[in-house]
Amino acid sequence: MTDTQAGAVQQFAYRAQMQQLLHLIVHSLYTHKEIFLRELISNASDALSKVRFLALSDPALADVDHKISITLDDDVNTLTIEDTGIGMTREDLIERIGTIASSGTLSFLEELKQSDKPVDASLIGQFGVGFYASFMVANRVVIESRHATTTGPAWRWTSDGMDHYTLEEIDRASYGTTITLHLKDEEKEFSEEHRVKQIIQKYSNFVDFPIFVGDAQVNTIKALWKERKEDISDEDRTEFYKFLTMDYQEPLGHLHLHIEGLINFDALLFIPAKAPPGLFRDDYDQFVHLYSSGVLIQRDAKHLLPDYMLFVRGVVDTDDLPLNVSREVTQNSPVAAKINNILTGKMLGLLREWAEEDQDRYTTFFKEFGKAFKTGLVTEHKRRDELIDLLRYPSTKTGEGRLTSLKSYAARMSDGQDTVYYLLADNLDLARQNPSLEYFSRKDIEVLLLAEQIDIFTISHVREYDGKTLKSIESADLELDTAEESPVLSDGDEDTLLALFRLKLNDKVQDVVASKRLVDSAATLVTAKDAMEPQMEKMLKLMGQGFGPGSKKVLELNLAHPLLANLLALHQESTHEDLIDKVVHQVYEGALLFDGELTEAATFVKRMTDFMVEATRPASA
Ligand code: ADP
Ligand code: MG
Repeated sequence: MTDTQAGAVQQFAYRAQMQQLLHLIVHSLYTHKEIFLRELISNASDALSKVRFLALSDPALADVDHKISITLDDDVNTLTIEDTGIGMTREDLIERIGTIASSGTLSFLEELKQSDKPVDASLIGQFGVGFYASFMVANRVVIESRHATTTGPAWRWTSDGMDHYTLEEIDRASYGTTITLHLKDEEKEFSEEHRVKQIIQKYSNFVDFPIFVGDAQVNTIKALWKERKEDISDEDRTEFYKFLTMDYQEPLGHLHLHIEGLINFDALLFIPAKAPPGLFRDDYDQFVHLYSSGVLIQRDAKHLLPDYMLFVRGVVDTDDLPLNVSREVTQNSPVAAKINNILTGKMLGLLREWAEEDQDRYTTFFKEFGKAFKTGLVTEHKRRDELIDLLRYPSTKTGEGRLTSLKSYAARMSDGQDTVYYLLADNLDLARQNPSLEYFSRKDIEVLLLAEQIDIFTISHVREYDGKTLKSIESADLELDTAEESPVLSDGDEDTLLALFRLKLNDKVQDVVASKRLVDSAATLVTAKDAMEPQMEKMLKLMGQGFGPGSKKVLELNLAHPLLANLLALHQESTHEDLIDKVVHQVYEGALLFDGELTEAATFVKRMTDFMVEATRPASA
């Protein structure tokens, strides 16, 4: 690279990832190509919001007309969009335009590659690569920009969206950005006025700044959230939601509030129907937009709702905040804390209403966002009981795809039961097959199946429900009622078997005991009495902490199982030492497998293959 000189054109190669992304955008996105305009307008509007915000404290910036202008030329087939926004420096053009910023983009890339169907282009805005949508319709894009508040020249950025872009210094007096799309021949429609106006009305009607096509303003700027609920149609509200979130589906529900009193604000909040991409990543920053007196103060006002409601999208508008506020001030302001408190209460009210009156909707909500919602058990002390009532889990008695509340679990408990039982597992399939369930299904006792990772961290915060303690069925100290069963082996035989297993698994388990909870399986592993609770142990494992020597498990054997009777017989004949050894280890590792703890799969399969060779040997051989 050469030093920057006025007039010199510098060329930059795109990184490989960026080239891949461009290729995909140009070749995989077919439907709804017109959304490129929504993306460009949304960027212009962001840039204008930034200047309007700075203008609150810098009168020089208030002088300019803040607007978006679109110019079309169907002779040379171009579309030009100009804004009087914040503009970009040379670094911005390199870092923000020339590079993929968000880590979510990568997963987006992967998803695109894997689907062989044509991908809906309207997805793109959710992934932070909106600008590049221009290359769906243009074969050359030119950006000219000057930053509003940094001294320094203006720059021209040019690319054909293939493998490189160029930068050169230019003369430009006014701050802001002008982007010119040289349209592909087959995309000529986007240089036609009626078509462009139609697209703006469809996707960008709610933009805060006037959008001009030629001399005519096309959008109607209206702060929907300020209007009376009764005056807004469902269609308008849904359009607003789609505009705000770039989601293409209807939201699952909404909350429209006009709060007056000690604190005054309007809010229009939505719960999406599906968790947006990246919702659970640390860098997720799509929260509620905070407005004050019609000015966008913060796009991602996280502190207006608790973290466990990070899925809520929408707008909060209040005049009670001082206008010239920095992020830190809004974060710590008592006004924000009060708004947060009111919104949390109202949101929980809405969820309660769904839970009671529209269970299907609530189940959808919980499947999408339960993971986030459950973290409230850890952080939200004063509303914990409210949250507990809203919890839903699959159980051994819920049908496929259904969830139960603790309340309905409790209603199904038999008279003698004083414990709410649960089982933690890596996924629902593993949970349903866990041998520890056998006792409970024989006794017709319901067990909650906690198969989301977050359950490990949250369930211990629900110590009891309605006076009944919650307990893992994997705890060793469960009091199981097996009074009516008669022992299958004599005490002596039982001792022999247990001693045999103890000897062979000496370094692997803490103890071997007779099981009361198994029916069909031969063995299972449980937590030792003096060891950590199972969820604690799983938690440490998730956090990458190894097991201490104290955390070995206890192997429980089902003495009524035919395998163990056979083994005892072989052992008493003092033959087949080798086979007995293999069986003992196979039984143990099978139990490990159910616990999601089997690390030596190869040995396990090898041993199983040996058994099959034995079993399939033809009688004549
Ligand atoms: P996103 O808007 O999600 O960040 P984009 O690909 O649409 O992703 O835009 C990338 C970045 O380029 C923006 O975040 C912004 O910093 C910059 N940018 C794009 N268009 C403009 C514009 N008209 N004015 C100022 N900055 C812009
Ligand atoms: Mg954008």
